[in-house]
This record gives sequence, structure tokens and C-alpha cells, in this order.
Amino acid sequence: MEEQTRSIVQQSLNALLGNESFLPELQGDMRKTAFTSLNAILSTPNQIHKSFLRVALEGGEVVRIPSYRVHHNDALGPYKGGIRFHETVNEEDVVNLAFLMTLKNALHNVPFGGSKGGISINPKEFSEKELQLICVNYVRYFNNVLGPDKDIPAPDVGSGEREMDWMMAEYKKINPGSQYLGSFTGKSIVNGGSLGRREATGKGVYFSFRYLLHDYVIANEKALATSTNIFAKTALDFMNRPLTVAVQGFGNVGSVTALEASQCKYIHNKVVAVSDRNVTLFNADGLDIPALIDFIAKNQGDLPTSVEQLTEISVHAEIQSREDILTMNVDVLFLAALENQLHDHNKTEVKARIIVEGANAPTTQEADDYLSNKGVIIIPDILANAGGVIVSYLEWLQGRETQFYTEEQVHNQLFDKMKHTLDGILPQYFGDPFPLRQNCYIHSVTRLSTVLYKQGQLY
Ligand code: NAP
Repeated sequence: MEEQTRSIVQQSLNALLGNESFLPELQGDMRKTAFTSLNAILSTPNQIHKSFLRVALEGGEVVRIPSYRVHHNDALGPYKGGIRFHETVNEEDVVNLAFLMTLKNALHNVPFGGSKGGISINPKEFSEKELQLICVNYVRYFNNVLGPDKDIPAPDVGSGEREMDWMMAEYKKINPGSQYLGSFTGKSIVNGGSLGRREATGKGVYFSFRYLLHDYVIANEKALATSTNIFAKTALDFMNRPLTVAVQGFGNVGSVTALEASQCKYIHNKVVAVSDRNVTLFNADGLDIPALIDFIAKNQGDLPTSVEQLTEISVHAEIQSREDILTMNVDVLFLAALENQLHDHNKTEVKARIIVEGANAPTTQEADDYLSNKGVIIIPDILANAGGVIVSYLEWLQGRETQFYTEEQVHNQLFDKMKHTLDGILPQYFGDPFPLRQNCYIHSVTRLSTVLYKQGQLY
């Protein structure tokens, strides 16, 4: 597990250990033993499953692809987490991502544990037939540890509803009579997916930002104005004024976040930059986000990389290098690509004063400490990007009941749940000196610790 995650867990446990009102029945040596046990449980996964999937490519070559499924913790319910298709996938990252799922579900009170999967390929280098074979083999290999009451995968980077449909079909074939609709989430609507799931993460990411910077700050303006908290000062500085926005990553999460920002009725945003693995596109007057979304839908997910392509779709933008977006002079930076994007080497160059983590773990501890000390508000991954797992839970429920909700019902439930979490966290955040990430971790660890204690696991 990454050092940053480990150290924040340790800090959260230390804060709880010193708080006498937390599990007061645990005293003396019993208290110490329980906290040692908690640290061990949370900082290691329950199981790591791995395999080298054997796939015959269309050209005749046979490859073996490293693949993982990590079960971190299931104290709160069946394991739940996406499957990442990316060439950088490795065991340590998958373990860390599984742990973040445990914390995320605990934070938002979603009745699932935390898991994650990964397949170490660049999916754009494989044909559709080969990708289907990879998906089928993944399910065959991990079948024993997957299932609607055991571990329920969903899409992540490089995967989407097509992959979930293939995987569910294979699961159904090998497990006749099972409640297969609940075995995977993020499926297509015709295959039992939920309306609103595809947009859920991006909508939730934008909602977390809008709720904090607009709804909450306006409702609590007087109290924030008398606070000495540095984050309260930043929030008030940004209240009720037009904002410039950049969005790193223009896939499922980033494109929806950018669209939500560009169409927001509450905050006047100008989305001046978006990026993917090839380019950053910049326009100081604001980019045409719907036209760019249309473009990626027809071009394998890629943004335009040439003046000719931009001219074809009548989009005005400067083409810059992909890293430029991170240090651009904007008010708000949404990170919706990969982990470790803001780090020790670029942290001093970051100009945005509000950072929203659509991606998992995009800010390293060094960058987080540095930016937080300067009063930058960082809305962390486990708070901001939970829309996917919240609506996955709704999809899982709908699959079990075979009763389906409207898109409006789905999104209303999503926003209600996120609002509930934010209302539980923000008063403390604006009242103490800790960054929002630490407040969220303490909240999650408190819930997990209480459940584990009551289940008799802290011996
Ligand atoms: P996605 O649809 O595959 O999109 C990823 C985007 O990031 C693409 O635009 C990709 O560009 C870009 N990208 C990849 N490598 C990059 C790099 N080195 N620099 C800049 N951009 C790069 O994935 P996603 O589902 O949106 O997921 C994005 C992040 O959100 C991940 O951290 C994921 O774990 C997290 N997340 C996703 C969900 C969900 O429901 N999907 C839920 C919670 C969290 P190319 O298209 O050019 O490769």
C-alpha cells in the first residue's frame, strides 16, 4: 500500500485512539490491542488474486497478460471495485485502489467492502475480438471469487459497459441459475444496467465541488467569515464569482465533469482547458465541450491533436502538451485521469486554488501537504468520485429487484447521498486545521472501526 495512504490511516487511528469518546468501553491494554489490530486490518488486503491470462491474438501470437483482483476488506458488505485496463497496472497500485474503495464505501455509507481489479494492457492496442477474449478469460479465472454476494466489479480506466456486458455474459454461462444481474455493474441498459450510471461519477465529482463552493458556503457565509480556518478563507474568496476551470482526462469521468461545469446554472464557469494522454487543448474564452464530446465518441476516445481536426469540428483551441494543464493559471483544476499527477516536482507550479480529485490518488502526499499548507482546497477522491459506486449500488439493487428507476430518480438519490456525506464532513473541515482528505479518512476509519469492533474482530 502506498506510503501516503498508510500514513493517513495511521494519523486517523492516532486521532481516534486519543479521543476518549470513541468506543469508551475500550480502555487500557484492550484499547491498545484493538488499535494495533485495526491498523493491521486496514493496512493489508484480505486477499490478492493474480493470474497471467493466456490469450491467442488474431495474428497467431499467444500472450500472457498480468491480471489482478484484490479483496481489501468486506466488513461493510460484499467487495466492490472497478477493473482497470491500462498498461501501468501493477499489484501495488491495485492494492492501494482496493483500499480506497473500502474507505470510499465507508465514507458514503454504501453497504459494500472494497476491492479492485486490473489487467495490464493498453486496450487500444487490441482488436475487439481480442478484448472480448481477455474479458472472458478474466471471468473464467477469477470466477470463484466473484459474484453478486461476493465481489462485484465495475468499469474503471480503459473499460466500460461493453466489457461489463461481456463479463456478465460469461459469468451467467459459468454460474447457471445465479442472480447474474448483480454480478457486474456499469452494464449497458439493455443488459440490466442503470439509467444514469455512465454519467454518475462525473456528475458526482462536479456536484461535490458545486455543493462545497456554492450551496454550503452561501448557506454558512456568516460562520465562515468569522472563522480563522485557511480553507474557509479560500472558499469565501471564490464564492459568487466566475471561475476558470481545467479538466485533466477526457474519458468517462472527465468529459462528464467538463460538461457539467460548462452547463452549471449556479456557478459561472469557463472551461478553458481539457486534456488526455496526447494533448492539452486551451482556449481562454472557453472550449466547446459538447463538440469535443462528439469528437471523442467518433475517434476511439481521443481528443483532436491537429489544427485540421479542430477546424473540421469548428473548435477553437491552442494545442499544448499534455502536462501543461496541471500548472495552468486557472481557479479550479479537476483531475480525472490517473494517479500521481501532482507531485513533488510540479507542486510549486500549480496555480489552481481548488483541486477536485475525479481520479483516484492523483495527488501525492508531498503535493497534498504543500498545497494544503497554502490554503488550497483539495476535494479528495473518496469524497468526490463516489458517484460511480453509489449508482453501482443502485444498479445492483435494481438487478436484485428487477425493478428499474428513472434517470431522474437515480441522479436524485446520488445527489442526496453525496449531500448527506458532505453535510456530515464540512462543518468539521471548516472548523479544524486538517485538510479535507484527513477529515474524510477519520470519518471512514471511525465507521469501519466501530463495525469491526461490534463484529468482534479487534482481538
Ligand atoms: P477513462 O474513460 O479510461 O478515461 C481516462 C482519461 O484519462 C482518458 O481521457 C485518457 O486519455 C486520459 N489519460 C490516460 N493517461 C493519461 C495521462 N498520462 N495523462 C493525461 N491523461 C491521461 O477512465 P475513467 O473511467 O474516466 O477514469 C478516470 C479516473 O477516474 C481514474 O482514476 C478512475 O480510477 C477514476 N474513477 C472512475 C470511475 C468510473 O466510474 N469510471 C469511478 C471512480 C473513479 P486517452 O483516452 O488518450 O487514453
